[in-house]
Amino acid sequence: MANEAAYRLDEVRANIAKACKPSRRETDDVTLIAVSKTHPAEKITPLLEAGHRVFGENRVQEAQEKWPALREAYPDVELHLIGQLQSNKADEAVALFDCIHGLDRPSLLKALAKAMDKAGKRVPCFIQVNIGEEEQKGGCAIADLPALIEQAKAAEIPILGLMCIPPFDIEPAPFFAYLFKLAADNGLDQLSMGMSGDYETAVMLGSTHVRVGTALFGERRKQGQ
Ligand SMILES: *Cc1c(COP(=O)(O)O)cnc(C)c1O
Repeated sequence: MANEAAYRLDEVRANIAKACKPSRRETDDVTLIAVSKTHPAEKITPLLEAGHRVFGENRVQEAQEKWPALREAYPDVELHLIGQLQSNKADEAVALFDCIHGLDRPSLLKALAKAMDKAGKRVPCFIQVNIGEEEQKGGCAIADLPALIEQAKAAEIPILGLMCIPPFDIEPAPFFAYLFKLAADNGLDQLSMGMSGDYETAVMLGSTHVRVGTALFGERRKQGQ
């Protein structure tokens, strides 16, 4: 299993390097977030042993159960919260994560600012944008983005850039290109976009943080979606 994990990691890294070439980007510009949600520590350890350090989880409670022990063994791990966050979990999220990707509304922004003040620590965030303007999806409405960025500045929450999950089952490239433009228009230069099915496309269109689960760990059981 250790070999298989290392093999998949090499493969994904090679694909990222290939996708960087046409736009003459450096491979180091792209952070590979290994999305380990639903997978037990035994499946995560081989990636850690292969030298990977950046991981993503989408549930605070699951991360609390898995990561403190892994972090003891690998203190330089960088943990990203990639999923939706409830305001009442802000304290726990700020304590555990090094980066939060799902900031998408004023109420959560306030809760995070308060949690960061209390913890005496600023956790960098991505603002999630509802790029396909889908009703059921999380993410800030495109029209509300400038105001949310201003509020984050006022609350001294460091905003790295924008994050999106494009609509399912449609060609994602136009949505990635649009997120790139929105970020540029708002003076932000980092983009969290691209998952197992489309990370190469995302990198070609400027992604700086790809969130890859299945291509590294294999299929998940349903609950993690
Ligand atoms: C699960 C998840 C991913 C990883 O998805 P894969 O298709 O398994 O690579 C990426 N981003 C978010 C927000 C997720 O919830």
